[in-house]
Amino acid sequence: MLERLTRPMTSRSEPQTTVDPGRFSQSWIAGGAYGSNEGLYEHFNPATGASIGRVEVAGAEAVDHAVAAARAAQPGWAALSKTERARIMMNFSALISRDVLMLAELEALEVGRPCNAAAGLIAAVPEMMRRYAGLADQISGDLFEASSARLAFARRRPRGVVAAIVPWNVPVLNVLIRAVPALMAGNTVVVKPSEYSPRAAVALAMIATEAGLPDGAFNVVIGLGQQAGQALAEHPGIDFLTFTGSTASGMAVTRASAMQSLKPVAVECGGKSAQILLDDIFEDGGIWPHIFVSAFWNSGQWCAAKTRLLVPASRLADTIAGLRAASSEFPVGDPFDPATALGPLANRVQHERVERYFEMARSSTSYVELDCPNRSAEKGGCFALPGIATEVPDNSPLLQEEIFGPLLSVQTFETVDDAIRIANSTNYGLSGALWTNDAHDSHKVSSEIVTGSLAVYSSARAARPALPDLGSLQYYEPQRQSGFGADGGLAGLHAYTTAQAVAFHN
Ligand code: NAD
Repeated sequence: MLERLTRPMTSRSEPQTTVDPGRFSQSWIAGGAYGSNEGLYEHFNPATGASIGRVEVAGAEAVDHAVAAARAAQPGWAALSKTERARIMMNFSALISRDVLMLAELEALEVGRPCNAAAGLIAAVPEMMRRYAGLADQISGDLFEASSARLAFARRRPRGVVAAIVPWNVPVLNVLIRAVPALMAGNTVVVKPSEYSPRAAVALAMIATEAGLPDGAFNVVIGLGQQAGQALAEHPGIDFLTFTGSTASGMAVTRASAMQSLKPVAVECGGKSAQILLDDIFEDGGIWPHIFVSAFWNSGQWCAAKTRLLVPASRLADTIAGLRAASSEFPVGDPFDPATALGPLANRVQHERVERYFEMARSSTSYVELDCPNRSAEKGGCFALPGIATEVPDNSPLLQEEIFGPLLSVQTFETVDDAIRIANSTNYGLSGALWTNDAHDSHKVSSEIVTGSLAVYSSARAARPALPDLGSLQYYEPQRQSGFGADGGLAGLHAYTTAQAVAFHN
């Protein structure tokens, strides 16, 4: 049986790459490739429409096999000292550094991430891995009472076998940001990558095995959400499920987990994040490239994209002018062109979805297409040029639904209270940003905005790139329908452990 994930597009010549995608076409279970005859999926380069080959799709049987392999490996992995687990993780991180280009090329081929940007982010991932390797030493319990009659403590133990179901938007990071803390806490993992980006996950599992992770510690099952994904969510052999993806799928996996095996879950879902610019910040002409990046990075395909820009009503014209000027620095085009800042959308299905929102913006708002240099000379790929919608009706889906594409809504406000009310007026609560020099207003917004994270910038000079920060290991919890569960830092490591109370009575 041959199925296609995306319809073929007009094909043009393929880029020269150093990577052979065919090496990563099977699941990786118990330290080796696992063939499956349940179906073949063909993928197409979203920039060119050319086939990049087929992968073997696995289902419930492969999931059973992967869970059994992870179960068999877990006690041995957990029994290693933290130092030994850290040493193996450091080997793993060194091999990721070695293979940055190969992994970046896979991301560019599978989902159209600009190769240079992909390599930059992947090169930062080993730092996160090293931080978790060091932090694992701090996983510890609590001593409650000590007397000659009674000693009581709570200790933190690994949960056991962790399933990670992840999306396609940043394929390498999506896998490692879940697998690394789970492994460092003494668990083994079964990863189900998105059906749109399986190869990068398989490559990571192969590297993990080369680095010395025991067979069965890091398994990858290539499969569809409603087959392999659902089988994992329901599986009684999974002790903890960490899900990253859309809110609709997060609800489905939470339901399946609860109804079939009552397993604990953490879900990190979508967002509709607001970025608030207070009046004083307009003095700083350098802010616009930062505002642009925080909305349009990865062509708008990231969970924390600031897709609603809130500005004082009197500053709307300045805002449009600032974003138009900044956009000339961000060429859209071929992911393998080093000058490209924004690649295509990840696949045809995603492209068609996002185009529907652009049509809505053109027909129901004052729509402005930005002036990004268009280097995607040939049509046929899944390209979308960044644009801004202003004067958006209050009840428009453009203000409520996650678009996951390069379309920014600009909303206006009169007072800071007004801005906070507008920022909080969606079902999501993932992320946010605020630009001001006013200490009082920044405290007020940070305490009243309902988000898992908030970046406060006092000037363009102080702003760091508004991208995933892999070094700090700060932690947060998504709010509302953006999900639940601690992510990052020691709190995020603890999420992969479970507490056991022990009392000795003499
Ligand atoms: P998606 O929900 O369609 O798929 C995510 C994963 O879930 C995939 O592996 C998919 O196969 C699987 N899946 C889908 N339905 C399932 C089901 N019924 N049972 C089990 N598994 C199922 O999301 P996507 O389109 O791959 O990714 C985009 C979404 O991910 C956006 O909403 C984005 O905001 C979100 N995201 C969130 C974060 C975060 O940290 N909060 C990070 C990245 C992406």
